[in-house]
Amino acid sequence: MTATILDGTKVAKRADQVFQETVQELKQHQIIPGLAVILVGDNPASAVYVRNKQRRAEKIGLNYQLFHLPVTVSQDELLELIQRLNQDPQVDGLMVQMPLPAQIDAMVVMNTIAPEKDVDGFSIANVGRLWSGMFGNFPGTPRGIMRLLHEYQVPIAGQHAVVIGRSDIVGKPMAALLLRENATVTIAHSHTRDLRSLTRQADILVVAVGQAGLISGADIKPGAVVVDVGMNRNEAGKLVGDIDFPSVAQVAKMVTPVPGGVGPMTITGLLEQVVTLAQRRVEQND
Ligand code: NDP
Repeated sequence: MTATILDGTKVAKRADQVFQETVQELKQHQIIPGLAVILVGDNPASAVYVRNKQRRAEKIGLNYQLFHLPVTVSQDELLELIQRLNQDPQVDGLMVQMPLPAQIDAMVVMNTIAPEKDVDGFSIANVGRLWSGMFGNFPGTPRGIMRLLHEYQVPIAGQHAVVIGRSDIVGKPMAALLLRENATVTIAHSHTRDLRSLTRQADILVVAVGQAGLISGADIKPGAVVVDVGMNRNEAGKLVGDIDFPSVAQVAKMVTPVPGGVGPMTITGLLEQVVTLAQRRVEQND
C-alpha cells in the first residue's frame, strides 16, 4: 500500500482563497478583519514565523499590524499595549509571538489578552472553552490539522485517535478537538509505557514530540491516518518530522509529509480563527 499524501500546501492555498472571498464579503459590511501581532526582541525563528503570518494574512486581505518591541521592554509596557489593542475595535485577533524574554511572565501576558481576541487560544478562558465544547479560540496547529482531516474526509467519530505529546500548544488541544468530534482519544507522553502497543491500535495517529524517526511503519496499524507534527533538523540540516516517512507511507492509508503537511496548516488555523471572529462581529451588528 502507498499512502495518500495529506497535502497541507495545497489545502492551505485553497483555504486562503476561501478566506479571501469571505474577507471581500465582510468588506461589504464595512468590516476589515484585523490581526495584530506583537513581537518582542529579535529571535530569528520568531521573525520568520511572524513574516510568514504577515504574508498569508495580507494575501487574504486582513488588516495586519505588527508591533515590534525591543527585547528590553518591561512587562508593564507590554501589558499596556495589549490592553490598548484589547480596546481597539479594528483588532479582531491579537497574538504575542512566543518565546518572550525572561523579564516577562508568559502566563500573565496570555491571560491579559481579551479571551475573545486571543487567537492563539492560550488563555485559561479559551482552554476551558475548548474542553467544555463551547465556542472559543483554539490553537492554530490543531485547528489546521482538523481542517486538513476534514478536507480529506477522514472519518473521526468513533475512531481511535492516539495523540503522542501533551503540550499546551499541540498535544492537549489536538486531543480536545478530536474528542469534540467524538473520536475515542488516547494521549501518550514521555511516561507512557509500551507506546507501540497504543500506536498500533490508532486509526488516527498524531505525532507531536520533536524526535526524528520516533514512529516507523512497523509501529502503525495498516490503513491508519498518520499526522506528523514534528519539526526536526537531521544531520544534513534538512527539515524532517517525527515519523520515518518511507516506511509509514507503505502501511498507512494517509500521511502528512514534512515539510508541506502540518506546517502550512498552522497559519491556516490562525487565519480561519481571525476570519471567524470578524464574521461574528457582523452577526452581532446585524
Ligand atoms: P513539547 O516539547 O512541548 O512537547 C513534546 C511532547 O512529547 C511532550 O508532551 C513529551 O512528554 C512528549 N514526548 C517526549 N518524548 C517522548 C517519547 N519518547 N514518547 C512519547 N512522548 C514523548 O513540543 P511541542 O508540542 O511544542 O512540539 C512538538 C513538535 O512539533 C516539535 O518538533 C515542534 O517543533 C513541532 N511543532 C510543529 C508545528 C508546525 O506548525 N508544524 C507547530 C508546533 C510545534 P512529557 O510531557 O512527558 O514531557
